[in-house]
Amino acid sequence: MKQIRVRFAPSPTGKLHLGSARTALFNHIFAKSGNKGDFILRIEDTDTERATLESENAILDGLRGLGIFWDEGPDIDGDFGPYRQSERHNIYQQAISKLIEIGRLYPCYCSEAELQADREKLIAAHKPPRYMARCSQLIESERKKLEAKGRKPTMRFRIGSELIKFKDLVFGEITFSGKEIGDFIVARSNGSVGYLLATAVDDMEMCITHVIRGEDHLSNTPRQIMIIKALGGEVPQFAHLPVVLGVDGKKLSKRLGSSDILSLIDAGYSPNAINTSMASLGWSKAPKEMAMSLDELANLFDISSVTRSPAKSDPDRLNYINHAAMATVSKETLLATFKEPLKKAGFDFSKFCDEDLLSILDSMRETMGDPGKTVEQMLQFGSRLDCTEDDKVCLTNKGSLSVILELRQALLEVQALDKTNFTNMIKSISQKTKQKGKNLYNPIRLAVTGRQSGPKLENLITAIGPVETIQRIELTLQEIGHSS
Ligand code: GLU
Repeated sequence: MKQIRVRFAPSPTGKLHLGSARTALFNHIFAKSGNKGDFILRIEDTDTERATLESENAILDGLRGLGIFWDEGPDIDGDFGPYRQSERHNIYQQAISKLIEIGRLYPCYCSEAELQADREKLIAAHKPPRYMARCSQLIESERKKLEAKGRKPTMRFRIGSELIKFKDLVFGEITFSGKEIGDFIVARSNGSVGYLLATAVDDMEMCITHVIRGEDHLSNTPRQIMIIKALGGEVPQFAHLPVVLGVDGKKLSKRLGSSDILSLIDAGYSPNAINTSMASLGWSKAPKEMAMSLDELANLFDISSVTRSPAKSDPDRLNYINHAAMATVSKETLLATFKEPLKKAGFDFSKFCDEDLLSILDSMRETMGDPGKTVEQMLQFGSRLDCTEDDKVCLTNKGSLSVILELRQALLEVQALDKTNFTNMIKSISQKTKQKGKNLYNPIRLAVTGRQSGPKLENLITAIGPVETIQRIELTLQEIGHSS
């Protein structure tokens, strides 16, 4: 059987975002499922105005963060390099020469204004705004005349009226008619090649067997198939992945879920959880209950269960799977995961040794899904946060105050504090103050943490100990103007 070769071909114009990370993931698990194929990373940097090395590095770092490594790429030599399009100019020039020689390319001298006027006419006539092939039949002397006027040509691919058919592994039989497409540009007037040609030539030259990419590229596929066929190459199989939308069914906005992958990892999400939750963006049988490693995902993956309907990216799903991932990792991994996010949030590490931190994090696994919330809760272990004015007012009522004062007294008297005697302490405070439920726990939480919600009180108070808890209560009493 032929060696499977797939490629992930990002344009380095920004960080690695959800949509393209999902494409990388599907390519990777497809290549590694069963056949142990090759995953090639190709940098598509022909757009010199927008492509930057900084973005390339950010994309590579994002992939590494997810554990998605490549077999060939800009930093790993292989038999099909170079792996940056900006370094493959000669290869494209050879393809262009060949296409000119066989009459499939011709120079087009139309100005942008002429093209725009054509498009408007066609739209007004309710026709598809394709190129009207004005330059397709120019003879040499006409070309010379236009060149003498200073017109610099683009190069257009001449298409016939044939039907282009292919079987997409996700979208099924697809047919485009050459008539609808119109002759398209493959090289700009400054001589640089465009995406359509560069990518088709690379897929052919790099012996790519499967092109797996977003649905937004579907209309490029017939053009690229025509180029490859004209060059006598072998056409790869195509699989277009459904568009990724937000939970609301609308286009992903930067704010809602199109977050860049490295920032998710930096925030404390487990790479396995990110990968598993991305796997369900189109793959109907992706695991829903647990986070899996790339190898496990690859073992289960079957491209025939990728669906065409738009995939909705739901941050709650990521949090749910991340919760499952955090439930099984070692305490040490928890600490390693949260050290940087906690540092960034200003957590006071001086108060705890690593062992304390390990057991605090371990005690919080149940509520660990959204790492931002975990960090927020951890900050409450580090220090008491400021109360809002409304909360201060709540604390001054008679019932709340009696609870806080009783707690302070009990802590002053306690010998050693563990979860059992903390529970007994709370029971006895309840009896003495006649406060229960919210009226009992809310003032304690507010006085000790400054917040209405947070980690389990028994975990928090036993971890910070009676001395610190008393100090925090004193601070609260001062804040609300209670003189004891
Ligand atoms: N460079 C293109 C992009 O970043 C991908 C091209 C392809 O996969 O064919 O959208």
